Amino acid sequence: MKQVCLGEVAIDSCASEVSQKKVYMETFGCQMNKADSENMLGLLHEIGFAETAEIKEADLMVLNTCAIREGAEDKVYSYLGHWNTIKKEKPGSMIAVGGCVAQDAGAALLKRAPYVDVVFGTHNLQRLPDLVLQADQTKKPAVEIWQELPEDLPELPVIRNNDVSAWVSIIYGCDYNCTYCIVPYVRGREKSRSPEVVLKEIEELEQAGYAEVTLLGQNVTAYGHDLEPKIHLGDLLRLAGAKTRIKRVRFLTGHPRDLKTEIIDAVAEVENACEYFHIPIQAGDDRTLRRMARGYNVDFYRKVVDQIRTRIPDAAITSDMIVGFPGETENEFMRTVSLVEEIGFDACNTAAYSPRPHTPAASWEAQVPENEKYERLRFLNSVVSDVAHKRNKQYLGKTVEVLVEGTSLRNEDRLTGRTRTNKIVNFAGSSALKGQLVNVRIESVNPWAMRGEL
Ligand code: SAM
Ligand code: SF4
Repeated sequence: MKQVCLGEVAIDSCASEVSQKKVYMETFGCQMNKADSENMLGLLHEIGFAETAEIKEADLMVLNTCAIREGAEDKVYSYLGHWNTIKKEKPGSMIAVGGCVAQDAGAALLKRAPYVDVVFGTHNLQRLPDLVLQADQTKKPAVEIWQELPEDLPELPVIRNNDVSAWVSIIYGCDYNCTYCIVPYVRGREKSRSPEVVLKEIEELEQAGYAEVTLLGQNVTAYGHDLEPKIHLGDLLRLAGAKTRIKRVRFLTGHPRDLKTEIIDAVAEVENACEYFHIPIQAGDDRTLRRMARGYNVDFYRKVVDQIRTRIPDAAITSDMIVGFPGETENEFMRTVSLVEEIGFDACNTAAYSPRPHTPAASWEAQVPENEKYERLRFLNSVVSDVAHKRNKQYLGKTVEVLVEGTSLRNEDRLTGRTRTNKIVNFAGSSALKGQLVNVRIESVNPWAMRGEL
């Protein structure tokens, strides 16, 4: 694990006291949550906590929660129940809960889990150290939820989990109101970080030895519309190409409506911008898209894909889809299946619709029965897998640039890395290649990964 804080100083040397206490961190949900957890570890390090992978050693257990689906939320309370047993075995240890479930529940979380010591939200991560110290001193739960991000976004310390590829959040929140989605409620309105701050962070990462950054946002393609002067993601990619020496830049998650020509052009023209587009469509049927309030129809999406493929023929395109949205008919679902085949996605995250609080679709009458949703999900997944396999077969015999991320979890003699198009490639090689760009010839593929030779 690489330990850095902003300002190029190793965080070990900028912590005010030698780490003695241990923190165990568990993260549910998306890349934004993973990035937030890295900031939480950085913040806690400043009050003397070092991360441990052994929960039983921990003086503080932190759960960074996800509310996107009901299952993720239920998992929070079952984890907390288990953590309470561990807490009882280690008197003085504490439990802190952050993330989207904490933002939504606030103090009500203590009704279901009264043994929790700290509850904090998605807008006040920087308050975590103070809240932990407060709960420790008063021996009473410290609960603090902010409804918005602070006007001036604080620059947070960070301890990263990966020392080759780093997350860099560039925009927080979401201004859309998709009728199924809880994100706008728990993450608030869009707020971009300034390009100067983002570029400084990328340059520091490059100097610390990172080869790749992924620019993050719930709606990363909307980057910069709220800044003065306005700027868009294409401009930021061009600046990252011209002003930093980082080898690769990616971005996640795009919204089809905001993936403007300028962004596609920048990916085509900027050398370190990777040819990878994650653009969730959610459904392949116009009536469903309208009821989801997505703001585009299938033809609009087709045009975005055409534009990408005309400009960047080898680009990978991945997507998210929800099946069993209230009122979705069998025919409408089959249009989603056909669209997966027509577009030929490189991969898709698929999910059964899950009714969420504060969202309109949750109270609509025509809910699709659970067994029907899961049957549709299984069918869609099998088609996604066939289509992804076909896409990956196009790589057979080709030599691709791979960023080596480390040794494979299953086999220490093999290396694992990613292509510019975000495909996982496993191959034999020396661990000294970690962090390097190497050329690998693809020998075999499955729907999720490839094997090759240096
Ligand atoms: N902003 C991105 C977009 O508009 O496409 C998506 C971000 S959202 C955090 C990640 C994914 O979660 C969505 O693309 C959607 O497929 C899924 N999701 C959101 N709400 C859901 C729900 N109520 N049930 C099932 N899946 C959901
Ligand atoms: Fe949720 Fe829609 Fe915003 Fe994506 S664009 S985070 S799906 S509300």
